[in-house]
Amino acid sequence: MRERHLYAEPYRVKMVERIKQKSFDERKKLISEAHYNIFNLRAEDVYIDLLTDSGTSAMSANQWSGLMIGDESYAGCANYFNLQQAVKDIIGYNFVVPTHQGRAAENILMSMFLKEGQTVPGNMHFDTTEGHIRMRRSSPLNLVIDEGLDTAFDHPFKGNINLGRLEELLKNSMGKIPMLIMTVTCNSNGGQPVSMDNIRSAYELTRKYKVPMFIDAARFAENCYFIKQRDPAYSGKSIRHIAREMFSYADGCTMSAKKDALVNIGGFLAFKDNEEWYEKAVQIQICYEGFRTYGGLAGRDLEAVARGLYEGTEEDYLEDRIGQVHYLGQKLIKMGVPLQIPLGGHGIFIDVTKFLPDMPRAELPGQALVKELYLEAGIRAIELGTCAFGYRCPETGNEVYPPQELLRLAIPRRVYSDRHMDIVAQALSAIAGRKDKIRGLKMVYQAEIMRHFTARFEPI
Ligand SMILES: *Cc1c(COP(=O)(O)O)cnc(C)c1O
Repeated sequence: MRERHLYAEPYRVKMVERIKQKSFDERKKLISEAHYNIFNLRAEDVYIDLLTDSGTSAMSANQWSGLMIGDESYAGCANYFNLQQAVKDIIGYNFVVPTHQGRAAENILMSMFLKEGQTVPGNMHFDTTEGHIRMRRSSPLNLVIDEGLDTAFDHPFKGNINLGRLEELLKNSMGKIPMLIMTVTCNSNGGQPVSMDNIRSAYELTRKYKVPMFIDAARFAENCYFIKQRDPAYSGKSIRHIAREMFSYADGCTMSAKKDALVNIGGFLAFKDNEEWYEKAVQIQICYEGFRTYGGLAGRDLEAVARGLYEGTEEDYLEDRIGQVHYLGQKLIKMGVPLQIPLGGHGIFIDVTKFLPDMPRAELPGQALVKELYLEAGIRAIELGTCAFGYRCPETGNEVYPPQELLRLAIPRRVYSDRHMDIVAQALSAIAGRKDKIRGLKMVYQAEIMRHFTARFEPI
């Protein structure tokens, strides 16, 4: 990766959107009215919105112009064929099932393969993937390597799956493992990449034990960029070449196009070559999404996804995108903020148990830090810790804590400048200076599944 000061953004701006920072008193009132859950804030009350990199990308002039040639025919619209071509060119798969977003592709996939009482292993599942598995009364199983859960451990591919444990599981599965899901990059532990060797070996194991393997491809291009940076065998290969090879080691993929395809809405499920699966998927797609050539999207949306797949795999774009994430990360590291290292692809992940070491997990330190960032500067971040990944045990009523307590600063693609990143760093520096005065939170309402979206909190 070139140093950031040696190049400028590989785009220029021709439209802007006004943002404003509310006063401290307003922020204090607004966060309290939102029951301290930043999902309840109005976007206009947020100054720098790092809630997610999902669907928040700035589209290019090329994508916007694509919207104007949306073919809104119910069946056989031209944009579907453009999407099919893009998936073939970039991913190398023959069959594509458009869906309104990534979780809809997961819904179709799980409906096809999953029965009650099964186990779905993966390196580390995303929260909606876990939700789909649990809703079908099955169990998600994360087999990420131990290094992947130690935020301070420097390893180039912390999204890798533990192949020994995977083989053990597959060997003793007795038909209870319907599929393996490899998430690239691995969102839940910090946008950490998975190596080509690991993907290839996992695929070989699934072939040996006759279990299908799918890639959760939301950030596949960022994963390919890391393979190019961190594996000398790929330093001379293009991103598109790396992507084609990576996808060759799976039977299909789910895609949230709201990430690396640089669109505001869209997704798909794709299969390499299994036409029978494709036809089965289309039946479910028709029930939940729509006819096979639009899948819950307008023709214009399909066009933006198709164009975004090409743009999202351009090298100078990826260098600038990941370069910006690392620009912020390096600033925070210099300030002594404990982060997941090495820095990942789509955001900065603060290790909150180290940042607020004196706050017990029962007081939700991740949520408390989210609240402080909003109070300090109107920045919206998200907790990926106790509230997002823990749960209340139905039998005992006790809280089951996930291994990590992280705060994510997700960076939208092509949206903010490095100066916005400077403001974020300043805010964290101010918060670090008044750490001992930060109060924890208690959860006063929670839903059964994916509680972080709707939970309500009160200060302790
Ligand atoms: C966002 C995401 C999903 C779900 O996609 P949506 O488009 O939000 O429905 C699935 N997996 C991963 C890794 C994601 O980041």
